[in-house]
Amino acid sequence: MTPDELRNVFAHLKVWHTKGWRAPNKPLLALWAIGRCLRNEARLAPYDMVAQELGILLRRFGPPRKGVNPDLPFWHLRNDGVWDIPEAGRITQTASGHAHISSLRREGAQGGLSSEIFSAFRKNKAMALDIAYSLVEAHFPESLHDDVLRAVGIDSSFLNTTIVDTGFMDEPEAELQFQHVRRRPRNPAFSRSVLDAYGDRCAVCEFSIRLRGATVALDAAHIRWHKAGGHDRDKISNGLALCALHHRLFDAGAFTLSPKYTIVVASAATGSGVDRYLRRFSQLPIYLPQRTEDYPNFKSLKWHHREVFGPIVEGIDY
Ligand SMILES: [Zn+2]
Repeated sequence: MTPDELRNVFAHLKVWHTKGWRAPNKPLLALWAIGRCLRNEARLAPYDMVAQELGILLRRFGPPRKGVNPDLPFWHLRNDGVWDIPEAGRITQTASGHAHISSLRREGAQGGLSSEIFSAFRKNKAMALDIAYSLVEAHFPESLHDDVLRAVGIDSSFLNTTIVDTGFMDEPEAELQFQHVRRRPRNPAFSRSVLDAYGDRCAVCEFSIRLRGATVALDAAHIRWHKAGGHDRDKISNGLALCALHHRLFDAGAFTLSPKYTIVVASAATGSGVDRYLRRFSQLPIYLPQRTEDYPNFKSLKWHHREVFGPIVEGIDY
């Protein structure tokens, strides 16, 4: 496969999605496998190990569902032409074509990137990084990119080392590819209008620090993630002005908003600083825009509640 073909395959993983339901299972498995490859680990890993490590990723970065099913991407990523299970022929399947987990275990099934892709990535780590970045960009909001990459073992210090080690600077093509992924598409018009609507302050904590005439560490967050579809994704009513801290907490599902625009904090949020920076705002209304048409729209809030925050809290109906 040429680099373009490789990029294309990962850009078109068949991800089940309907009505904005998130299904990041395959992209997370692909990222996990790319991380292993970049760390010079073995191509194949036993099913139980993949299930355990992918399960952790799914619970952390997947939508808040009742359970996670790492066996599904483990089995079905093969259909996308990037994943290999040498024992696949011996695995028994359910009527709907899923693998029996007991069979995966009995046969000692192992999974990993296909040999061709694995060796291509080993030869050109800059390209593997480029594809990892593209996957993260395609499936997660920017505020979570570093967390996801770190969780699959690709952190920024590793990136720098790898670039030097692979002779990256001598490869103009690789350099271009890498710079390409770092220029993430943004929509400055969306940011400007959201920040204007909220008077340049965090809707949660009123943070509004200016330095040399410009606000710092203040973001226009998408309520329904930009990549999760929806024609209203760049409207002000799908935005919230949030400081860098509350933006990350919001995208991670540590809090959401009720239909009365009050702050609902996840009961699972714990740790040092949780009261000072988060729980003290619980049940307080956010600072709303001047114009009611700019208020967060219920469709987006409902999406955030269902896909990012967690089970619908009793008494909250959008
Ligand atoms: Zn804030």
